[in-house]
Amino acid sequence: MPPYLNMNCIHCKTPNPEQWFYCRSCGNKASEPIYTTNLFMQSEIGKRSDIEFSKVSMDSHINKINKDKIKKSNKFWKEKVRQSGVLNG
Ligand SMILES: [Zn+2]
Repeated sequence: MPPYLNMNCIHCKTPNPEQWFYCRSCGNKASEPIYTTNLFMQSEIGKRSDIEFSKVSMDSHINKINKDKIKKSNKFWKEKVRQSGVLNG
């Protein structure tokens, strides 16, 4: 049996067949950290990191668009100045 399916409390070894998150006997977390971490990743952090990841990539996407815009605009005006310089000179 994999350790995370062994539902005895990791602190007092009281059997925990109902899979309480906290041991009914000693009050500590009843299961192995790997089990609670996986459970947590599947629920809260998993969802949250998805949201943050898409937010970050959206921000950097917008930044990239703005940078490209500035670059193009700089190039545009540089070209204008060069052209007017040619016409005037
Ligand atoms: Zn216990």
